[in-house]
Amino acid sequence: MTIPSLDLKAQYDTIKAEIDEAIRTVIDRTDFILGKTVTALEERIAAYCGVKYAVGLNSGTDALFASLKALGITKGDEVITTPFSFIATAEVITLLEARPVFVDIDPKTFNLDPTKIAERITKKTKAIIPVHLYGQPADMQPILDIAAKHNLPIIEDAAQAFGAEYNQKKTGSLGTVGCFSFFPSKNLGAYGDGGMIVTNQKNIADYVCMWRAHGSSKKYYSEFVGDNSRLDTIQAAILSVKLKYLDRWNEARAQKAKTYDQLLNRVGVVTPYADPRVKHIYHQYTVKTPDRDKLAAWLTTNDIETKVYYPLPLHQQPALSYLGYQAGDFPVTEQACQEVLSLPIYPELTADQQQKVIKTITDFYRQP
Ligand SMILES: *Cc1c(COP(=O)(O)O)cnc(C)c1O
Repeated sequence: MTIPSLDLKAQYDTIKAEIDEAIRTVIDRTDFILGKTVTALEERIAAYCGVKYAVGLNSGTDALFASLKALGITKGDEVITTPFSFIATAEVITLLEARPVFVDIDPKTFNLDPTKIAERITKKTKAIIPVHLYGQPADMQPILDIAAKHNLPIIEDAAQAFGAEYNQKKTGSLGTVGCFSFFPSKNLGAYGDGGMIVTNQKNIADYVCMWRAHGSSKKYYSEFVGDNSRLDTIQAAILSVKLKYLDRWNEARAQKAKTYDQLLNRVGVVTPYADPRVKHIYHQYTVKTPDRDKLAAWLTTNDIETKVYYPLPLHQQPALSYLGYQAGDFPVTEQACQEVLSLPIYPELTADQQQKVIKTITDFYRQP
């Protein structure tokens, strides 16, 4: 029996009746586009995050794109972000013909290194996008200080960090706009694509609300060119069920992370550093080792699935080669790409499964 890196079926089995009922209710009402299910979820998520507004969208990528649009980012602008993320973070900047300006990461947290941001700010800089990678918030206070000093908005890419906290504040509520993804593998995952922005600024919420419906707030009357990017109503119904369980699930992940920490620390891998000011939600449990590829192969041989997030930094992606970055530009990120390995972690991972993962890793380091 393979131990998968994530088991969505095991989770569905625990909430099947409620999920099936929620889906049926939407179909019975034939209320398929937006409607009260989406509005209710938006209100609950705004309250959960401690912000005034939330707007449901088609994906996390669209949440990032719409945020940049709402902030007026346009051709020739520069946006500071991390090269150690999913492509979407930089892609949305380039879609607007703006330029992603990368800043290397902190080797302990894998998040933006705040001490390296100021030197990259120019007259063209228009925003900063910190990513809360693996479910751990970036070190936001120094980033907020730099942003305030230069009068720059912050867009949090909180796609992997729904429910995580920094100094007791939820991710998404720390910057100007927060972006979430409900991609199925995220901690709060839909059964398809989905995303959301959260913000305290009414003008941003209003803009995104219109943008997701062709730039209109009145049917067949468009004020600006937008898109079709509404959060699907069936997905909103599913997310409303799952949101009730999210804190428990995140807590179960944190417990499993603690078990990994205790038993893997002595073995030979570097276990994840958790900043004491944050609540880490362990979207991924990512260890570091120079033997990464051999360890991953050994785990595969022993029927344990692992993942590498990410094997290639954004500045070395063929799609972004036109930016002119080179190998060696961001050494901390490049080394992380060689050394990180994400182990199975999810609320339904059993104690036996986890012990097998730990034993298999221990055995790897005991080999002659
Ligand atoms: C998942 C993810 C996204 C994109 O979300 P989608 O819903 O798949 O569009 C953006 N940034 C990060 C860091 C992600 O992990």
